[in-house]
Amino acid sequence: MKVNNAEFVISAVSPSQYPEDGLPEIALAGRSNVGKSSLINKMINRKNLARTSSKPGKTQTLNYYKINEDLFFVDLPGYGYAQVSKSERERWGKFIEQYLTQREELKLILQLVDIRHAPSKDDQSMYEWLKHLGLPVCVVATKADKISRSQWQKHVKLVKQTLGFHSADRFVLFSSETGMGKDELWDIILEKMAW
Ligand code: GDP
Repeated sequence: MKVNNAEFVISAVSPSQYPEDGLPEIALAGRSNVGKSSLINKMINRKNLARTSSKPGKTQTLNYYKINEDLFFVDLPGYGYAQVSKSERERWGKFIEQYLTQREELKLILQLVDIRHAPSKDDQSMYEWLKHLGLPVCVVATKADKISRSQWQKHVKLVKQTLGFHSADRFVLFSSETGMGKDELWDIILEKMAW
């Protein structure tokens, strides 16, 4: 995929603010710090269009990034903040659920997990929830450069087992440091956009 232009469009706090271009949307889910912003930046060859390490818990918004005139990356608010109250969590859940179940432009969800650790309870519930809703998911294991190549398979196995990974879903090992997985992920995204 040749990215000629990428721009931040809006931090949407309600459906009325979602873009009306009708372009396909690829959403990113994952806990804070998993590497969502870094992945977006790597995919579009930019150093810091997507803000890295934004304050956890503060961003209950859907951040839209427009790529060429082709698609949007939609950064979903990170989940799994220990300090967030139950009512805030519920509000988060309703907002995201509405987006996931009603947004026709949504073509694929990239669920990011850190390759170094077994997925958390929140990661597991998120994946289960996405599957329950019948949505197409690609699991992206981030920060592959942080463990040695000889350990990759062991970690991939642990991630898949812990998530209860469905073999029909796609799985990509990714590094925003080295660019590993970038081309493969673009291929998967383009395939889903054509759907
Ligand atoms: P976000 O909160 O999910 O958007 O996570 P960020 O993209 O801000 O990344 C959190 C931290 O992890 C930052 O310090 C990044 O530089 C680092 N990071 C993200 N992806 C990678 C990666 O693939 N490799 C390495 N080594 N560090 C990464």
